[in-house]
Amino acid sequence: MGGVREADGRQQALVDGDLRHPDRDPRRRQFVAEEQDPFGVILSCIDSRVPPELLFDTGLGDLFVMRTGGQVVGDVVTGSVEYGPMTSGTPLIVVLGHQRCGAVKAAHKALKDDKPLPGNLQSIAEALRPAYEVIAKEKHADPVDAMTRVHIKQTSADLPSNKDLGPLVKKGDLAVVSAYYSLDTGRVEVLTGAPTA
Ligand SMILES: [Zn+2]
Repeated sequence: MGGVREADGRQQALVDGDLRHPDRDPRRRQFVAEEQDPFGVILSCIDSRVPPELLFDTGLGDLFVMRTGGQVVGDVVTGSVEYGPMTSGTPLIVVLGHQRCGAVKAAHKALKDDKPLPGNLQSIAEALRPAYEVIAKEKHADPVDAMTRVHIKQTSADLPSNKDLGPLVKKGDLAVVSAYYSLDTGRVEVLTGAPTA
């Protein structure tokens, strides 16, 4: 699938320290001014170290990007994730978690201690509760990391079960992938959903 190969090739540039910073010049701006055709949708965390456009060495018109604390979804975010695949055939959705996620760490502590986070932050913790419940039943050397990985797998498994994205996945027009970004190495590791073709 084109989107996955494209994302993989671009990601390698970050790992190798061989960034090309493509698609950022006036020609590209003019080329995409009338129409866009991004090769992927990335849902990632707000963490300042995890900007998808940089991780995948992209420029103008290359990616749809959604970012929330702990890459949690709700109706508005899910609608935004669906936009590209439903309206213009974007072939790839990546739910991208990352190492040492502060949002997941805070949510893990809040849920474990049963002490809600202040203000609207608690809604992030609540969105992460299903992942917390899975890992709370198990023993993990690094429970926050385990919770991050469970959460992105859950989210990427849930998206194709929705009535709008499901048919696209079934037809093979869309891949929904969970992936994990290592702050230490700069590498994005696909956990689930990599298309075989
Ligand atoms: Zn994070």
